[in-house]
Amino acid sequence: MPIFGSNVSLPILVRIEDNLLGKVNDLLCESNLLFTRPLILTMPQTGPLAESTAAGFKDARVHEIQDNSYPQVETVEAIIDEAKPDVLIGVGGGRVIDVAKFAGSRRMLPVVSVPTSLSNDGISSPISVIRFRKGTRSVGVNIPTAVLVDLAAVSSAPLRNLRAGVGDLLSNVSATNDWLLAYRKTAEHYDTVAALLARQSALAMLSQEQVDFTDPAFLRALAEGLMLSGIAMGIAGTSRPCSGAEHLLSHALDELYPDKQSLHGEQVAMFALFTSIIQEEPTRQKQAEFLQTNDLLASPEDVGIDLAGFMKLVTHAPSTRPGRYTVLDETSETDIEKAYRKAY
Ligand SMILES: [Zn+2]
Repeated sequence: MPIFGSNVSLPILVRIEDNLLGKVNDLLCESNLLFTRPLILTMPQTGPLAESTAAGFKDARVHEIQDNSYPQVETVEAIIDEAKPDVLIGVGGGRVIDVAKFAGSRRMLPVVSVPTSLSNDGISSPISVIRFRKGTRSVGVNIPTAVLVDLAAVSSAPLRNLRAGVGDLLSNVSATNDWLLAYRKTAEHYDTVAALLARQSALAMLSQEQVDFTDPAFLRALAEGLMLSGIAMGIAGTSRPCSGAEHLLSHALDELYPDKQSLHGEQVAMFALFTSIIQEEPTRQKQAEFLQTNDLLASPEDVGIDLAGFMKLVTHAPSTRPGRYTVLDETSETDIEKAYRKAY
């Protein structure tokens, strides 16, 4: 009798521990991931952490990138072609992990993600955000072979990064609603397991009254939630479980107001409150309270955007990800204004 199932790409090794930077090689070896010539990518501010990781290998090379722009990727690829590493390890924030995943996929190398900040769900996702000459784009890549989160490192990152990470996680609620809507209206592929993983991780975070950003139990819960979000995207084969209208609005904000200072996770949580109201999401009131209690951005006015500016974002949002059906596609201008006033 045939047994039916699906083949999905998942990380082979996932660890969330205190002080694991110095034992990255030991952890990989325990899982029979035997590498001898890693190329370790990092940025100037996380250089010392990358050196700690390099110390565990016999023949490691460390390269500092400046940002997640395409020319930086090309430099990394030139080093790969010359040094022939057997693994690419990203030790740093989102931009480092993005460049590692992108260059690793293009050169068919395994990638180990060692995030030193928990500001978004890119730590384990099959998506890289890369800055090209024509603009910033999310690109599909291979899921990391291993994801190793050092709790000591992420706890010393700025508090604001953690808030943004919480925001990116919470936005899964709005994103999964939009995914289900697209499935019903356009017959887009929908994966229940992926949707459940993304949604339940967000609801678990939302169930906390007030978050203690210094509590190790909270840091672990956040790391687990973001990791599961990335894995949900791996199962879905798309960013859908973690990216709906709230992400399109955030991309529109990045494109139309590039000088604003807010972080991705702060933006998507703030917009998710608005989209949740249009979606009549049962947790919308709880989301509003959570944003207020935990000092996340609660309104576009916090970043200098008024109703007129917001309406521009709504108009521009669909063009940031053509073909992604969301609640914005079926909401009138009057209802959008009403939801804006309710949300903010
Ligand atoms: Zn996101």
